[in-house]
Amino acid sequence: MRLIFELSKEDFKGYKLPDLDVERVDIENIVGKDYVRKELNINAVPENEVVRHYTNLSHKNYSVDTNFFPLGSCTMKYNPRINEEVASIKSLTDVHPMAPEEFIQGSLKLMFMLKELLKELGGFHDVCLHPAAGAHGELTGILLIYAYHKDRGNVNKKKVLIPDSAHGTNPATASMGGFKVVPVKSNKKGQIDMDDFYKKLDDDTACLMITNPNTLGIFEENIVDIAEELHKRDALLYMDGANFNALIGLFQPGKWGVDVMHFNLHKTFSTPHGGGGPGSGPIGVSERLSPYLPVPSVEFDGEKYYLDWDRPKSVGKVISFYGHYGVFIKALAYILYYGRDLEKVAKYSVLNARLLKHMLKGVFKDPYPDSPCLHEFVLSAVNLLKYDIRAIDVAKRLLDYGFYAPTVYFPLIVREALMIEPTETETLQTIKSFAKALKNIVKEARENPEIVKNAPHKTPVRRIKEAEANRNLRVTFKDLFNKE
Ligand SMILES: *Cc1c(COP(=O)(O)O)cnc(C)c1O
Repeated sequence: MRLIFELSKEDFKGYKLPDLDVERVDIENIVGKDYVRKELNINAVPENEVVRHYTNLSHKNYSVDTNFFPLGSCTMKYNPRINEEVASIKSLTDVHPMAPEEFIQGSLKLMFMLKELLKELGGFHDVCLHPAAGAHGELTGILLIYAYHKDRGNVNKKKVLIPDSAHGTNPATASMGGFKVVPVKSNKKGQIDMDDFYKKLDDDTACLMITNPNTLGIFEENIVDIAEELHKRDALLYMDGANFNALIGLFQPGKWGVDVMHFNLHKTFSTPHGGGGPGSGPIGVSERLSPYLPVPSVEFDGEKYYLDWDRPKSVGKVISFYGHYGVFIKALAYILYYGRDLEKVAKYSVLNARLLKHMLKGVFKDPYPDSPCLHEFVLSAVNLLKYDIRAIDVAKRLLDYGFYAPTVYFPLIVREALMIEPTETETLQTIKSFAKALKNIVKEARENPEIVKNAPHKTPVRRIKEAEANRNLRVTFKDLFNKE
């Protein structure tokens, strides 16, 4: 087998090359003097061995296509294959991003349609498709809010209020935007504590970032009042739309007074994610913020579609070209496929979550028994601490039962949190067997805690250092070769 690769000489300086089964190494200058070309003659491997190797590796993957994926906040629903089929149509994949507008009317129409549908679903004045993911949508939204206040001469607006149940990207985004993060407490119902909100809200408040339903899967009942109070002080309302699955087709956040919200197309609108491909985080905005949207937008003049760069107050560009076009196609296919039935996505996702939560009554502690859940719920594994078992152990043991783990230790306000989101695409059968597995694990914790504590037993890899990759980030070429 012949392996050819090109590397800069600089890349190798001082690093040891990995050991390969090499018969012959030719080094020759081919692309100017800065590059070397290496040809490695590796002992031939029969094709069937290669196929078996990769097929066996692929079988070690866990995915929505193989099993239930209750990872809370991530909306790991089934991604219908029709999306992939449509997104791989050659006349859509082979369009050059710099092609003249008159040649790409179909592609522009597709983006325009998606924009109009998201406007309608979210109840917004305008939508920008550009952001590459939810967190990028947050950043774009925060840039708009910054531009809005700057434009109005609101120089003191330095604070962003964020509930303590929020996803970590919210405070990260606000501080990236140069704002000071002010946490707002949650109350016993798992919602924003209004007294604390009034206490923290002042004339220096630029905006509040809320998630609705919030990360506990609980609906923020006071959202309309919150929007009104903010607007009285010329502060704005950002809504994290990651949980839009619970609302789609039923509620339009724009009508609640939300000024900007990101959609996670890869969550609500069914695109593979979590190592499965790129995402997309379009934002919907109120009339107030629309002058500041990134350029260009896709417009229609009654005859043809075109890219509009004429937005003098725009924050500029946030991505190369127009965003993740392939994800747009999948989202559009999904929306058109469901049509008005989209509201069933929301209804069934809530039904499945409530059913599963009901089946787990008494198995784990319910930290907010007075608040019904929407599309996901958070339970607490504190009842297992007396057996020296923690949420992480339950999550690991689930892998032995053939299930992916729920999200654990998030949101931060729930001790030993297990955050479970079944999504609308799971059957009663699956939900029942998942509940049964969790009940079994609690029984094991009581009777044979070691088996839970040392789980997983059946996976290719056992316990790993969960935070190693975050704490000791090694992602560059040099790092890989530096490993002695
Ligand atoms: C997923 C998620 C985000 C971030 O979205 P990405 O698309 O992963 O960048 C933000 N907030 C909440 C509540 C989420 O669940």
